[in-house]
Amino acid sequence: MIYLDNAGTTKMDEDVKKAMLKYFDEEYGNASSLHSLGQRAKEQLEIARTQIAKAINAQPNEIYFTSGGSESDNQAILSIAHMGKLKNKRHIITTKIEHHAVLHTLEKLEKDGFDVTYLDVMPNGIVDVKALKKAIKKDTVLVCVMFANNEIGTIQPIAEIGELCKQKGITFFTDAVQAVGHLPIDVKALNIDMLSMSAHKFHGPKGVGALFVKRGTPIFSLIEGGAQENNKRAGTENLAGIVGMATALTKAVKEMDKVNKKLVKLRDKLIKALLKVPHSALNGDAVNRLANNVNLCFEGIEGESLLLMLDDEGICASSGSACTSGSLDPSHVLLAIGRPHEVAHGSLRLTMSKYTTEEDVNKVIKVVPKIVEYLRKMSPVWDELEKGERKHVL
Ligand SMILES: *Cc1c(COP(=O)(O)O)cnc(C)c1O
Repeated sequence: MIYLDNAGTTKMDEDVKKAMLKYFDEEYGNASSLHSLGQRAKEQLEIARTQIAKAINAQPNEIYFTSGGSESDNQAILSIAHMGKLKNKRHIITTKIEHHAVLHTLEKLEKDGFDVTYLDVMPNGIVDVKALKKAIKKDTVLVCVMFANNEIGTIQPIAEIGELCKQKGITFFTDAVQAVGHLPIDVKALNIDMLSMSAHKFHGPKGVGALFVKRGTPIFSLIEGGAQENNKRAGTENLAGIVGMATALTKAVKEMDKVNKKLVKLRDKLIKALLKVPHSALNGDAVNRLANNVNLCFEGIEGESLLLMLDDEGICASSGSACTSGSLDPSHVLLAIGRPHEVAHGSLRLTMSKYTTEEDVNKVIKVVPKIVEYLRKMSPVWDELEKGERKHVL
């Protein structure tokens, strides 16, 4: 099997699995218990917190463990909204290409009287900082821009946005689920106030993540109960998961340069080869993108059919994001970069990992153009394009 859906989730690293096993077997204590088994759990929990903090240049007491990226996104946004209400500031700026964990949380806030500006992105999928600056109002309480996009891999100008928010005294939250473990991140240098991460996007386990909250930034608890996580997130800590996340992140940071060097080569090889398919286009900036991300549109086909045929060839890929696949709406990200509906439907996302090999890439380069050609032969839309009854847009 060739797994090219690493933006959806990643395979757990063997070292991560090994590090976790102890916490299912001997060291199963509850970190809140006073006996030694519990106290050892507590110690491990704090070691993991320190490791995670170090990976992004934060302090350990600025790291809150959660169940993953979605929960961290919800907690960050709802915390600042809560503060905004108290200060009578109800304007939030975000982008049209955020993950649904961000967009749906903001839609809920709109129903609650918040005013949300959804910024367009440029055709290359990058936010225009000048437009962001213009959108700031007197009552803007939060700027929420993702670090790197999960569909098209574009990397946003986080340093510039952080600097701008710092100058204006506005809280800056970034969903960095696709960036942590993949790009160097220094929350201090980048002036980030809040940042979310998720272990299963960097070869850690599913169901565990973290929220970085800069000291002094208010944080509101979504889950009431015990006093865990400094009273900001009740519930017995998922110690095995947390140790897994810390192990995975430490390893990912160590391997980052080497892995990215390899992936950039494979990425650019894939893009170059697949763009030879007539009437195709790359989605997102060619340079300012994650090393593992390839996302293309092929005119005249359905991405879903392409996926199913790739699956028959043993290749796992994606079209749009995992959350939108299965529904008929094309990806909101592809629409935001200006792809017309029918073109957005013909998209293919291939996301690699450190486990991807050159042979995997060569197979994809052989198989994809053939499948596209086959699907176009059967496509009524392609027929219209060929006959000139419909105009090519790519
Ligand atoms: C995967 C992902 C999430 C959700 O993380 P979960 O841990 O699966 O809840 C949020 N944002 C982005 C950008 C993602 O890629």
